Amino acid sequence: MEAIRKHQQFKISREYDTQLKRLYPVPGLQTPFGSAYATVDAGTRSQPHQHHEHETFVILQGQGLFVQDGHKERVASGDVLYIKPFSEHYLEADAACDIQFMSIWWEPQNLAEQPSSTHHLIFTPPPTPNGDLHLGHICGPYIAADVIRRQLQRKGKNAHLVVGTDKSQSYVDLKARQRAQPTQGLFEHYSQSIMQTFRHAGMAFDSVYDCDAKGHAPFVHDFIHRLQERGVLHHQTHDYAWCEHCNLEVFDAFARGECPSCAQPSNGCVCEDCGSPNNSYDLDRLHCMLCGNTPQLKSQTKAVLNLHACREHFAQAGLQIDAPPRLATYLRHQELQPQRDYVVSFTGEWGIPAQAPALAGQTYLAWIEMAAGYLAALYRGVFDQEPDSTEQAIDRLNQADVEVIHLMGFDNSFYYAYLYPRLFAALGLKQLKITFVVNEFLLLEQSKFSTSRNHAIWAKDVFTDPVDTDWYRFYLSLKRPEAQRENYRHEEFEQFRQDLGERLQALASTHRQRLASFAADLDLQQGGAWKRLHQEYGRSFEQLRQQLDNALSAPCGYSVKQFTTTLLQLVDSLVRFQHLTQEHYTAQAAVEQRHTSLYLESAAMLGLRQHLACLMPTATAQLLG
Ligand SMILES: [Zn+2]
Ligand SMILES: [Zn+2]
Repeated sequence: MEAIRKHQQFKISREYDTQLKRLYPVPGLQTPFGSAYATVDAGTRSQPHQHHEHETFVILQGQGLFVQDGHKERVASGDVLYIKPFSEHYLEADAACDIQFMSIWWEPQNLAEQPSSTHHLIFTPPPTPNGDLHLGHICGPYIAADVIRRQLQRKGKNAHLVVGTDKSQSYVDLKARQRAQPTQGLFEHYSQSIMQTFRHAGMAFDSVYDCDAKGHAPFVHDFIHRLQERGVLHHQTHDYAWCEHCNLEVFDAFARGECPSCAQPSNGCVCEDCGSPNNSYDLDRLHCMLCGNTPQLKSQTKAVLNLHACREHFAQAGLQIDAPPRLATYLRHQELQPQRDYVVSFTGEWGIPAQAPALAGQTYLAWIEMAAGYLAALYRGVFDQEPDSTEQAIDRLNQADVEVIHLMGFDNSFYYAYLYPRLFAALGLKQLKITFVVNEFLLLEQSKFSTSRNHAIWAKDVFTDPVDTDWYRFYLSLKRPEAQRENYRHEEFEQFRQDLGERLQALASTHRQRLASFAADLDLQQGGAWKRLHQEYGRSFEQLRQQLDNALSAPCGYSVKQFTTTLLQLVDSLVRFQHLTQEHYTAQAAVEQRHTSLYLESAAMLGLRQHLACLMPTATAQLLG
């Protein structure tokens, strides 16, 4: 690499609508940054673009406009501009002069250290209280949500986890009728049982979505009223299905037939298979879930959502939705579908009764009630108080820096990922960042968990002791069906527990012995002499530390499976390092080498302990001391 490269040696290229002279890196010299000298011709602008690197521009000559993510500012020679990763940016030169500037860009060192939101609200879908939770449920959103919360808090971030149960679902009423039990009693029984399971699963939640709280029903009514004011909900004569035999409206859980979109067997309101919404009477071969009879088609005044208007509002708002690929495809598909009116009030007593006289005897679809509850929970999570009204909640949330991390099964996509952001946009929400963390099904011994066939492992039966529970937390996180279905085998779990338990205890016990024998004479805040082995493992531990820090962050999609897999790699790496450095702990070994070995081992053990505690809040201390 020559010390001086003369200007004539450079090739000036036309890139990003500028004249670009690339400076670094060059063949023969790899630099940790890239650099170029660029000119934007007078009266033109550089091509708007974005990239993952950080970048700075130093304006050397000229003046004009700098635009980053739509924010415009005048700039002139001498100004230094910082461009954050993934922001869209360009320079526009005044008509009178070129802008000449130096650009320097560099790789983000650590994704997790990128500027992140002030508030992280972690949402889990409130389970329907018509049964207990099995390992398939708990392996979906729940343990993962708790692990993410613990990791964010460990990193000093403000993280708030919301749980609850979804009282008003028609599935609760259906189960009660099938069992000839009072609905309220059934709800209370399973609601308490589910909340107890959350506690026994080691979930450290910050607030509970409570449909019986004093402010809940008034807020739901205000929310619905506001939807009417915004022109997305109206009252209209509409068809509905009625079972003469059972004397009830056949909708949602009470409706069974074939999905008009995909022809698969489906309940009313939304298809579990393809995720398309339906008005229950639209199902092919519609029958009543209770008695099996074909219902009659009638009509009455209904509350109806204008999904088309919701979509228009959403297109105007600036909500940032971050969805994994399958969900992103689903959302694009839904967006392109013709948006039909969606009925959201039904004759019945379970749920929140509509106030409008035209809707007498009807209650709102539980998912609409929950949309209001969701907004209120979001507000409480950020401001630590109850919202006065929907309007006030939206206004203040528009000023706040919030990221919602929403965990859910793919089958919940329509309501949480499609409808809610569009309802909130219709209500005036202009900015919110939502990262969806989606799971597929967990299989039990190769077939679907099934309550009716009792093919299930019930969480309340196995989460009986905090240490046992922690082993389930670890194993289920490893088996988390993030991208595809995974299979749970109990034998494999027992084997995993035994093997890893033995390895961790051996690791900790050797480490304790080494500390007891040699730590007194060594300053373990730093190393001594570094050999090739130390450099290799020092680098490896550092990479794993960064991967563990990054796995549970937005750029990595809050991947608990990745986090858990990396933690196992750290254990492997530590076991190998301990083994390879055995010689450094003999009487003849050089103190300086032992110093570095014990320094690296201690730092990696500390990292392991901190990260493991997110998965195993109780057992970590017992395993690693
Ligand atoms: Zn379908
Ligand atoms: Zn019936």
